Amino acid sequence: MNLYSDIKYIKGIGPRRASLFLKLNVKTVEDLLTFFPKDYQDRTKNTNIKDILFSNHYCISGKIINVYEKRIARGLSLFCAEIDDNTGILSAQFFRKVNPYSKFDIFAGLKTSFSLGKHVYLYGNCEIKFGQKQMSVEDYEVMEKDSDKPELFNKLIPVYNLTAGITQKVLLSLIKKTLSETSGLYPDIISHTDMLQTNTELMSVNEAIYRIHFPATLREAELARQSFALQEFLMLQIILLSAKKKNQSAKKLQKYQIKKTLLTPFKRTLPFEFTKAQKKAINEIFSDMTSNTVMNRMLMGDVGSGKTIVALSAILLAIENGYQTAIIVPTEILAEQHFLTFKNILKDLNVSVEMVTSSSLKTKKQKEEILKNTAEGKTDIIIGTHSIMEDRVKFKNLSLIIIDEQHRFGVMQKVAALSKGITPDVLMMTATPIPRGLAMTVYGEMDITVIDELPPNRTPIETFCISEDLAYANAIKEISCGGQVYIVYPLVDESDKIELKSAVKEAELLSQTVFANNKVALLHGKMKPKEKNEIMNRFKNKNFDVLISTTVIEVGIDVPNAAIIIIQHADRYGLATLHQLRGRVGRGKKKSYCFLISDSKTKTSAQRLEIMTKTTDGFRIASEDLKMRGPGEFTGTRQHGFPEFKAGDIAKDLKLIETAKNTAAKILDQDPDLCSAENAQIKNLLNSKYSYIFKVTQVG
Ligand code: ADP
Ligand code: MG
Repeated sequence: MNLYSDIKYIKGIGPRRASLFLKLNVKTVEDLLTFFPKDYQDRTKNTNIKDILFSNHYCISGKIINVYEKRIARGLSLFCAEIDDNTGILSAQFFRKVNPYSKFDIFAGLKTSFSLGKHVYLYGNCEIKFGQKQMSVEDYEVMEKDSDKPELFNKLIPVYNLTAGITQKVLLSLIKKTLSETSGLYPDIISHTDMLQTNTELMSVNEAIYRIHFPATLREAELARQSFALQEFLMLQIILLSAKKKNQSAKKLQKYQIKKTLLTPFKRTLPFEFTKAQKKAINEIFSDMTSNTVMNRMLMGDVGSGKTIVALSAILLAIENGYQTAIIVPTEILAEQHFLTFKNILKDLNVSVEMVTSSSLKTKKQKEEILKNTAEGKTDIIIGTHSIMEDRVKFKNLSLIIIDEQHRFGVMQKVAALSKGITPDVLMMTATPIPRGLAMTVYGEMDITVIDELPPNRTPIETFCISEDLAYANAIKEISCGGQVYIVYPLVDESDKIELKSAVKEAELLSQTVFANNKVALLHGKMKPKEKNEIMNRFKNKNFDVLISTTVIEVGIDVPNAAIIIIQHADRYGLATLHQLRGRVGRGKKKSYCFLISDSKTKTSAQRLEIMTKTTDGFRIASEDLKMRGPGEFTGTRQHGFPEFKAGDIAKDLKLIETAKNTAAKILDQDPDLCSAENAQIKNLLNSKYSYIFKVTQVG
């Protein structure tokens, strides 16, 4: 067995379990080893029963002195075991749903395990009711002999993100077994650097993997996490830095001169003046483009700050000088929208715009035509999703690549391969603001421009946490004044496990009830691109009053007549996503509102949503979001479009990133192409193992 073996060959997994693991994205032995816990449960302390005075989670252990069974209600039964630990007696309770017509004994297993006189360890929530101490049991272990040691008690227990069919216990034992069979196999780079000598508490990668799953203390778990993270960061920094070196040494063949043959007429057609921030951004971009090194710039600006026009200025500069531009967007809807916007703005200029998405290319002939024109240089601007990066699109003289709302890191490197010969200038645009310090550390090698100003005369969107009924009442009112409304749901289909309102079901219900007199449309990610585009366009043309949607509308969509967005289960989203969603309204002259609906009662979710009601400043929201994230919560970074780490957390690991950056610089200074035998392992790793960080990246 090696790291790349399919997990179905691990004893105890087999094809059926392997398919369950697939849902967790665990395919290989390596995936399993690095399937890290999302949290730890502290079972290091056993509480004496007499000391249980408050409702809370406790671990206790003692002898089973009595068991009995009780029917609570029709369909619900209770199994009780009384536990004595010499300081008191506790009633351990197991509730089970039962089918009253079934002969099957739902408690058969428990009855066999809980035999009188045996020693048992229990974990669960305790309450004191009528003077009796009761535990609603979440986990237990019955000892065969009193001298036996429990597997899952008296220690920290890792808590994993599980899927139905794989229990905590099963997963733990599989990981334990796999760890012992593959110990030392995981490639360890950091031990060969001086980073561990200077950070003496950190450990080797293999040690770290073991300790992340089986730590003795929380401190040890954290140090292990940091150690694994350090290797991830080192890889990231090596990739960033070598890309930069390549970029700097790349000879810039494209030459731009600000001729204004297109720029001036373009400016004249605009119905507004550039904001100061837009002017500054354009200046920076132009100075990059006319310099001797290839542009590598990130344009950050809040939703609605007018990034498109800035990009268009850069594009026209390229076209003025006889070059082509590619625009890469994350969704087909956005491609179509840009296509229409550009066509509209550029209609009086002699510029040709085309779109390559699966849906636009209706006939084979049209498709070939577009590809041919692009290859011959007749098309100036080509807009598309990742499909642009596929081999079939050839350019004659591509010199500029715009990546819009691309929340996926790593596109950059791949994109460079698009144009043979020329190394194109790259402009990335994002509306997901990243605190500047953080961005500098992580993106590091990229130049950053921030548009910190919105176009004038925008009425700020007002945000409220209100009841569903009130939100609908406001929506009806808005529609009666000619406005349009978005309603956003987190899921497409009703899932039997999670009781969330799903878009599909709710759209049906709402169109028959609350919005019975309105035109309601449904948009979700599982629809065909063509369908999505059609619905979006019809919504834009006011054929619908209400658009019920999943988060597919998150980025870029521009329908100025939509003035209300209602976000269901708002507590389920990160603040950055909420901010993006909210940015779908407030795009026209109308006063706009965002209504957040949530039935979560926890304090943190209330606090989070409150931030949304208090500010519309994306940067503030982003930094609050990062601040509020608890330990072990790795998900937030995904929204920022950062690389995905298995252990690294860019919000709190800035020091580690710094360390990794210095080491990466040292390594590349000595061996820029990683050719030495010593660095062969690094090179291999970059091409295989760490590709998960960069989804579509390849470094050669
Ligand atoms: P984003 O930065 O979110 O991509 P867009 O580029 O889509 O924003 O711009 C949002 C809206 O603001 C568009 O309708 C655009 O025409 C308009 N806009 C852009 N710049 C200005 C400006 N300087 N003054 C007024 N409106 C502007
Ligand atoms: Mg945009």
